[in-house]
Amino acid sequence: MSTDTRPVRVRFAPSPTGDLHVGNIRTALFDWAYARHTGGQFIFRIEDTDRERVTDEYIQAAIDTLKWLGLTWDEGPEVGGPYGPYLQSQRLDIYAEWAAKFLAQGDAYYCYCSSDELEERREAQRKANVAPGYDGKCRTIAPEDLARYIAEGRKPVLRMRMPDGSTTFTDSIRGEVTFDHNFVPDFVLVRGDGSPLYTLAVAVDDVLMKVTHVLRGEDLLSSTPRQIRVYQAMGVKPEEYPTFAHLPFVMGQDNAKLSKRNGEVSIAWYRDRGFLPEAICNYLALLGWSPGEDRENVTMQELTELFTVERVHSSPARFDMKKLEAINGDKIRLLSLEDLLNRSLPFLQKANVIDGTDAEIAVVKSALPLIQERIATLAEVVPMLRFLFATKFEVDPDSAPKIQDEQSQAVLAKTNEVLQAIVDWDHATLESVLRVALIEEMGLKPRIAFGAVRIAVTGSHISPPLFESMELLGRERSLERINSAIK
Ligand code: GLU
Repeated sequence: MSTDTRPVRVRFAPSPTGDLHVGNIRTALFDWAYARHTGGQFIFRIEDTDRERVTDEYIQAAIDTLKWLGLTWDEGPEVGGPYGPYLQSQRLDIYAEWAAKFLAQGDAYYCYCSSDELEERREAQRKANVAPGYDGKCRTIAPEDLARYIAEGRKPVLRMRMPDGSTTFTDSIRGEVTFDHNFVPDFVLVRGDGSPLYTLAVAVDDVLMKVTHVLRGEDLLSSTPRQIRVYQAMGVKPEEYPTFAHLPFVMGQDNAKLSKRNGEVSIAWYRDRGFLPEAICNYLALLGWSPGEDRENVTMQELTELFTVERVHSSPARFDMKKLEAINGDKIRLLSLEDLLNRSLPFLQKANVIDGTDAEIAVVKSALPLIQERIATLAEVVPMLRFLFATKFEVDPDSAPKIQDEQSQAVLAKTNEVLQAIVDWDHATLESVLRVALIEEMGLKPRIAFGAVRIAVTGSHISPPLFESMELLGRERSLERINSAIK
């Protein structure tokens, strides 16, 4: 991209046929970071010509997701801009006009072949072992055939004529790429019902919106020669074409293409599980790019400062949930208490752990510092802090059997006995008293002894630090729980 000195205009152009997923957002993030790094414009365009699959709901979700992630755009839905509208469904007249022009110029032609005929010829191509694709039959149509097609009521598609030869362009990540036109057959621009295809709409819009840089997924590499063909038909000079950069594939952990099973799920899924937007962005930035010096943690600000296309690799990146969780945990630890509180409360409320009263919020606020170091996602706040609020407290069914044995019962009885005498119910006192009673006098290992008390008091073997938890819970409730755990 270094040889392209135009002021940068880069676009993210999803076709939201569902919630945006990891791959889409990685593209959006790189587009955004590139625009911000270069001081250029970030354009957000919705490619919704297929309105059966792209719904208003998915479009709104895409808008909300970008906002939630902090990937603000300079032109696009809600903000407008000089080259709008930015929804392709509102630009159909523009595509129709260009299609008519291509037809008039002789760059495109009507094709009347039926799908059965096309399938039959494809089958023949397969048998003859020749490259599959449209064979150019309708490039010339005898007048009597044309009359017959029309009489039969066939609705033609509009096809672009691919000249002989090849298309070569320099991809900023992959270097020089050449496509032999023997493998790029004449392609459809407009369907029989008059609706435009992606290849037409995307190319026309990139030209009209003065897009200078196209950073997008590698799956779209093979559509580039067709888009360049459309630029040519539009009369665009080669130096005005966008510079292309095709980002490496994102694979699942098992090296297969990402799927629901190995991580390619919607960004909403991550949000609902308590991943922070800044952690998602940080992690996705590492899928195909690196800030250098083995660094893994970057802020959004640093990402925009450091992002260059030169640092994008061409080899596939692998999605790693564990690493995302680790980065998420790191980001949680960086939050101020107030910020952590505000982000945690919705999770606790949604899980009906709290109603949101001031008293409850005060308890959450005093408990959060105990777990900030221990959680990897905000959703973990729920199981961690539930014990502080449970009115009908019950020991977790997985943990309950662990305190039935004789030794645990002896620990609980001893705990009850020594704690009855304690009046200063603070964590330091509780710890020293229980250490003497259970570790020194009973001769038990801390893990065993405190493990039993932990289950009795918090209901689970995973909890915030024990003594602090007991302090927060208070004397009465702690003793009540220990007593009810004794058979
Ligand atoms: N709308 C296309 C898609 O979602 C991407 C267009 C592009 O980036 O060229 O697959």
